[in-house]
Amino acid sequence: MRGYSHLDVLFNNLPYVAMVLLGSAIFVLGFDASPWAWPAAVAYLASGVAGAVWVMVFICPSCAYYATRSCPCGYGVISARLVRRGRRECFSEKFRRHIPVIVPVWLIPVAAGAVALVRHGFSWPLAGLVAAFSIDAFVVLPLVSRRHGCAGCPQKESCPWMGLGKVESVSCGKGSAPAGGLDLASSADRAAPGLAGGAGRAFSAHKTPPLAS
Ligand code: SF4
Repeated sequence: MRGYSHLDVLFNNLPYVAMVLLGSAIFVLGFDASPWAWPAAVAYLASGVAGAVWVMVFICPSCAYYATRSCPCGYGVISARLVRRGRRECFSEKFRRHIPVIVPVWLIPVAAGAVALVRHGFSWPLAGLVAAFSIDAFVVLPLVSRRHGCAGCPQKESCPWMGLGKVESVSCGKGSAPAGGLDLASSADRAAPGLAGGAGRAFSAHKTPPLAS
């Protein structure tokens, strides 16, 4: 497995960071006459951070890169400090189940920008911001993820993101293997069993923050 330097990790995180900042700017620019513009921007920013943490807690523990420097965006190392290792054979199921939770981070700014353009009149700066967000979120980020992170992944054949489609029929309800840490992953599985399914697979044709890169 390749190990990534801090500089690589920084580079691989840039598209997601840019996406969250551009998304926040859409709220500020699109609703600048509203007192809710800044609170909405801050809430979106917080959801971007929460989305990254969600991946670290619920997907990374089952990834081959958990606790290694081979995770291109560094989440695997942080994940190991938060939760116990999960079952590798459950990666595909975890991915499908938890990706839909963070999908709104990609969609909400586009919807908010469209609403602002319709309600407050067309504006080139806002339209440019929405275009920049969309290119980053739906083109650059998936590209960086696939080219730099996923290409050498030892479990890409079972990864919905890579679309190679081999899905194991494994019962993963219990999530993490027993050890001395906090079993947040399996708790969430019990709490949110309905998140898996078509939406996750459809969206995984794009990206997850180098998230599940
Ligand atoms: S490669 Fe993706 S799923 Fe694996 S540890 Fe890194 S961020 Fe998590």
